[in-house]
Amino acid sequence: MKRFMLFVCCIVLVPVLTMGQVSKDIFETESFDLETWFVGHGSLMFSYNGMNIHVDPFSRVADYSELPKADLILITHEHQDHLDTIAINLIRKDDTKFVLTPTCYNILKEGFVLSNNESLNIAGILIESVPAYNVVHLRNDGQPYHPKGVGNGYIINFGEYRVYVAGDTEDIPEMKQIKNIDVAFLPMNLPFTMTPEMVANAAMMIQPRVLYPYHFRFGQTNLDELEELLEYEEEIEVRIRNF
Ligand code: ZN
Ligand code: ZN
Repeated sequence: MKRFMLFVCCIVLVPVLTMGQVSKDIFETESFDLETWFVGHGSLMFSYNGMNIHVDPFSRVADYSELPKADLILITHEHQDHLDTIAINLIRKDDTKFVLTPTCYNILKEGFVLSNNESLNIAGILIESVPAYNVVHLRNDGQPYHPKGVGNGYIINFGEYRVYVAGDTEDIPEMKQIKNIDVAFLPMNLPFTMTPEMVANAAMMIQPRVLYPYHFRFGQTNLDELEELLEYEEEIEVRIRNF
């Protein structure tokens, strides 16, 4: 039972979205438009210069058989809602590349491994890994839901345009070192990741131009509170999207 609990970190019951229902925003970068798809829960997809980059594809939130095939898949950690072989098998091609943590590599047995604070250039896109962990939110046995050193957040550099996908984390001090972020995705669900106060604190450390809370639960996560907390941070645009 304990082992089972370990892998079920933050599963939600949400309707599975089809491709036409997945919303997206488009950002202009210096070279190409960057399409950002809000697939659901902790799952994202970026489309840039003909490359499709999926992050933490999870088959319970979308019909991945309808979504674009992946050139690159980033996986933040091994929890079931982030490392899901059903979703991966629906979007992978012969030449799909993976960037993942050492623990995820031990499960998938393929891909480029990044521990915290490493980087890798894939097809001209620089991927940086940063820490993602809990300090405050612990399991009943006293262990963090996400122990330090295990999971990654990723900074994806689309040319000079920097997108930070935080993974499952709290507002950890390492975030002060994360600079020049254009778009940040910060998780907000309890007890596994952050409260609205923690997300606001993280945003004030990182100072992204655009902030998307993600990995939240509509109806259970107080999105209004986050917007109120960041009301006077005029440099940060908070965007709420349907996850
Ligand atoms: Zn997790
Ligand atoms: Zn999660």
